[in-house]
Amino acid sequence: MNILIMGPAGAGKGTMSDLILKEYDIPHISTGDMLRENVRNETELGKEAKGYMDAGKLVPDDLINAMVEKRLQEPDCKKGYLLDGFPRTLVQAEAFEKITERIGKPVESVLALNVGWDVLVDRITGRRVCPKCKAIYHIKNKPSRVEGICDVCGSPLQQRRDDTVEQLKVRMDEYDKSTKPVIDFYREKGVVSDIDASVSAENTFAQVKKALGKVA
Ligand code: AMP
Repeated sequence: MNILIMGPAGAGKGTMSDLILKEYDIPHISTGDMLRENVRNETELGKEAKGYMDAGKLVPDDLINAMVEKRLQEPDCKKGYLLDGFPRTLVQAEAFEKITERIGKPVESVLALNVGWDVLVDRITGRRVCPKCKAIYHIKNKPSRVEGICDVCGSPLQQRRDDTVEQLKVRMDEYDKSTKPVIDFYREKGVVSDIDASVSAENTFAQVKKALGKVA
């Protein structure tokens, strides 16, 4: 199955993606995670992307499009993909149409996660992540067993450098300006399912499963 998961920072894309993976044998491809990996490894792409990311701005489309096209041709994408954080602009969406045509993997379902501002602020400022195994925690809603340490792999947890209220405002503006039109682009194709993601993860996932049932 070929799925896009969309929503502002803090909407729960990572958490929903983890749950989806348990039910469907497809890889979770997060362009944000891929870029952060490139920044950590100080690759050419990472060096170019870092300034944009630290400022909460979008990385240029051509860099992202090339990175995604390459990734989707890896063997683990044979049964499909769960793309998180891409396409984020209309230019990317249009480029992605051509990419999916070339590789024969059209988008089948777009999950649009909707959440209000206050919930986003709480989720983003309390979010802690494991840089090694990518597990996601929240200081109040989903604390690790030992404070500051990943339950899964024992690594010290980190707060993402863009997880501040100031950066959230910038990312939200980018989302409204650039990404909402992408959802409308797919809405016209009739593949979007709106999900109320302000409720618990369990409740949100129940809606996701229902939405994916349409194309399973
Ligand atoms: P995320 O983890 O999805 O919130 O992404 C973190 C940052 O990576 C964003 O604020 C952007 O700077 C960059 N990024 C991730 N995906 C994209 C994309 N599709 N297009 C442009 N920039 C992106």
